[in-house]
Amino acid sequence: MSGRVAIVTGGASGIGLAIAERLSADGNAVAIFDRDGDAASAAAAKLEANGGKAIGVTVDVTDRAAIDEGVVYTGAQLDTPTILVNSAGLDGFDPFLTITLEKWQRIIDVNLTGTFQVCQAVVPGMIEAGWGRIVNISSSSAQGGQPVMTHYVAAKAGVIGFTKALALELGPQGITVNTIPPGFIDTPMLRKAEGRGFLGQGVEHHAGTTPVRRVGRPEDIAAACAFLVSEEASYVTGQVIGVNGGRNT
Ligand code: NAP
Repeated sequence: MSGRVAIVTGGASGIGLAIAERLSADGNAVAIFDRDGDAASAAAAKLEANGGKAIGVTVDVTDRAAIDEGVVYTGAQLDTPTILVNSAGLDGFDPFLTITLEKWQRIIDVNLTGTFQVCQAVVPGMIEAGWGRIVNISSSSAQGGQPVMTHYVAAKAGVIGFTKALALELGPQGITVNTIPPGFIDTPMLRKAEGRGFLGQGVEHHAGTTPVRRVGRPEDIAAACAFLVSEEASYVTGQVIGVNGGRNT
């Protein structure tokens, strides 16, 4: 039981939700930030019903004022957050020549600038505490590339570079910064992409070509995240920890 306060963005669904559940089960108080405030509150209520301490907060990671308010509210309700997991994300499937500047900007804003903004709001409290753990959820598509996703892949590659640079800057302050690039995890985002025909022959087909022969579960990412935010991971920083069933090495 680690007893710290964690913020998980995009924590109302999929990978973020599994991470929120795992960090709560490990004894941390959890603030679930999501643009869907009702879903965030419902998820927090479930954690509380299981004996945890949790709050749901309506935060769109593209809205700096809402982020700042959310961080202050978390501090007042739970205590200073010293664990941050950035899982809020938005995918996109568009042939390169059809991507408008507006669409490009939206994907960058949510995935990359959102990560930057939430980190900047939370890091001062970590510095004051002399301890912090940041895990940014990027994507295996940034390791291998992915057609019709240049905007998304560029944003997620940016998250990887951002993570490495921030780790060097914050290491002396007792703060680690790592990234997990998930590959093929069974979440609403993945199933929506499948439903829209963007996954070719579908999830089960791709699971069959994955070295470990299954689709990933959100809990697989949560397990890696639980390690990265733990006390014993203090010598692990600036790293890209792939969790993808062997699809990318
Ligand atoms: P998900 O089920 O769609 O969960 C993402 C959550 O983030 C949703 O609750 C979503 O709300 C929320 N969100 C989106 N934009 C937001 C914003 N601007 N501010 C606050 N919250 C926002 O997707 P997931 O698969 O768990 O994805 C989690 C992360 O993993 C994402 O960063 C994604 O890019 C990354 N990832 C996933 C996979 C995979 O195979 N699933 C692979 C590689 C990377 P709405 O539902 O309202 O949009």
